[in-house]
Amino acid sequence: MTTKHVRGRVYLVGAGPGAPDLITLRAAEVLKRADIVFHDALVHSEVLALASCADRIAVGKRCGRFATAQQFINKRLVDAARKHQVVVRLKGGDPMLFGRAQEEIAALRAAGVEYEIVPGVTAALAASAELGVSLTQRGVARSVAFVTARVGAGERASAWADAALQADTAVIYMGVGQAQEIASTLIARGMGPDMPVAIVENASLPSARCVTLCLAELPLAAAHGFTGPALIMVGAALAVLPDVFPATVSLGAAAA
Ligand code: SAH
Repeated sequence: MTTKHVRGRVYLVGAGPGAPDLITLRAAEVLKRADIVFHDALVHSEVLALASCADRIAVGKRCGRFATAQQFINKRLVDAARKHQVVVRLKGGDPMLFGRAQEEIAALRAAGVEYEIVPGVTAALAASAELGVSLTQRGVARSVAFVTARVGAGERASAWADAALQADTAVIYMGVGQAQEIASTLIARGMGPDMPVAIVENASLPSARCVTLCLAELPLAAAHGFTGPALIMVGAALAVLPDVFPATVSLGAAAA
């Protein structure tokens, strides 16, 4: 493919976990220069407002809702780079974690389009801050796994449970809808039913909500009606949450 018509550069930018002041200075600078921004559904309006000169186009996916096919997004990025100098693909959290960045990078490379990655604060770190719990607490946890059980059509199964069992702290992305299966898999594979679990929704936003429970109770997560993005965090490090563990039932605990 000829590259002579390509004039712009595509920036894959992390928008952070939600709070608009948790984007990086570099991300803010790129957004200010942007001619066009393709953004995920959950990006905060104040972050989008930084791209005041840009066309802003929502292309994100939310489970079960409207989704733009990935190949179509790839094509739009390449086409945009032929027309504009500064093209931004703005993704929640960090663009390289569970964000299909590699498919976009491959498409850009194949088309000879220059690209640059601007990292962001991933949801796991915002949730750790929300809880006030270190994921690598000294003497308790020395490893962290970021996992998801969710796979796309035709992809190989996720070995999420192996990773979650091996790490001291597991952070499960996109898992709340599969809470029952996650709990039964981990327990069947030998994790203790009393293992501390925290579910953190909307980390970094004023609407943040935390529910603490133990692994055996995780299937009850659905009763809490999570509607925002949420993470399941599993591991002994979470036992420091006050007045919760080793209590067996703590549903309804919602830290602000
Ligand atoms: N690239 C993103 C993750 C995209 S996958 C990142 O680095 O954070 C989307 C999943 O991330 C959601 O289903 C949820 O599990 C998690 N997530 C995103 N934002 C979140 C938030 N503010 N609070 C809790 N979980 C969040």
